[in-house]
Amino acid sequence: MIPAQFDYVRPSDLPDALRILKEREGEAKVLSGGYSLIPLLKLRLAQPGLLVDIRDVSGLDGIVETAGELVVGGRATHRQIQLDPVVAARYPLLRDAAGGIGDPQVRNWGTIGGSCAHADPSADWPAVLIASRATIVCRSADGRRTVPAREFFLDTFVTAIEPTEILTEVRIPRPADRSGGAYEKIERKAGDFATAASAVQLRLGPDGRIAEVGIGLTAVAETAFAATEAERVLAGNAPSEALFRQAGEAAAAQSRPSADGHGPAEYKRAMAAEMTVRALRRATARALGQA
Ligand SMILES: Cc1cc2nc3c(=O)[nH]c(=O)nc-3n(C[C@H](O)[C@H](O)[C@H](O)COP(=O)(O)OP(=O)(O)OC[C@H]3O[C@@H](n4cnc5c(N)ncnc54)[C@H](O)[C@@H]3O)c2cc1C
Repeated sequence: MIPAQFDYVRPSDLPDALRILKEREGEAKVLSGGYSLIPLLKLRLAQPGLLVDIRDVSGLDGIVETAGELVVGGRATHRQIQLDPVVAARYPLLRDAAGGIGDPQVRNWGTIGGSCAHADPSADWPAVLIASRATIVCRSADGRRTVPAREFFLDTFVTAIEPTEILTEVRIPRPADRSGGAYEKIERKAGDFATAASAVQLRLGPDGRIAEVGIGLTAVAETAFAATEAERVLAGNAPSEALFRQAGEAAAAQSRPSADGHGPAEYKRAMAAEMTVRALRRATARALGQA
């Protein structure tokens, strides 16, 4: 189909983009990579009066590590994150996830900000940011606010971002020593959205026990969520296969999958457990410097 008619602007700085979003509130929509929005326009499931293309807005696509955080610009593409040397060195959870998103074309165009603002229930970044206890920075003409990832994803295609805001950054805490992260995703075929996926970020204490752990699941509920029951099972305990299985079962029990072309609900629940076990194994091995 052909999209309905819309106006198009391509501002080159953030204040200009935010001013336009405020002036045209109710009809303007941000366009970033376009890999989710353009299909919706073509199907006429979205009919904005104005597209504010942010591709020329400077300062939105950096990846910078500060003393305590990795700051990823909202316009950073999946590919940029996948290839970033700092990400490769210290944020294997992000690298795992970025490399498994769609196909090369999707990774070249799609952005982390677009993925989070769109909040597809099977998207990969939301689970990763939840597991990492990241924060999401939203800017509007009236100011800036920071939302924890665990409070950002509210429902299918619904987030805490306002229509007059631009997601400018995600901020991921820098992992301490003896930390490890991993992302495990099962998909029907290469390049597909997840059937189920689990993101794990953990830190081992000096006694070898799990001192901190975050787990985010995607594709097994109306939106990505924190597997808090599994986190509780793990916290303070020594890593073991039996403990990982127990945590996997807790993650599955907290899932609320529905049957679709990816499989029946029971299968997805079983895959939520299995992906969590696998991610825990790899994250622990990485924390121990073994992978
Ligand atoms: C064939 C195919 C396969 C895919 N496979 C996967 C996959 O395996 N895993 C996965 O996670 N995703 C997958 N995707 C989705 C892809 O990652 C999209 O790029 C992403 O979801 C949206 O990012 P975008 O930059 O393209 O956003 P756009 O399509 O430009 O925008 C999407 C929505 O977010 C809003 N938006 C965009 N950027 C911002 C911003 N900075 N601030 C505020 N609002 C903003 C827009 O207004 C729009 O509502 C796939 C897409 C396709 C077409």
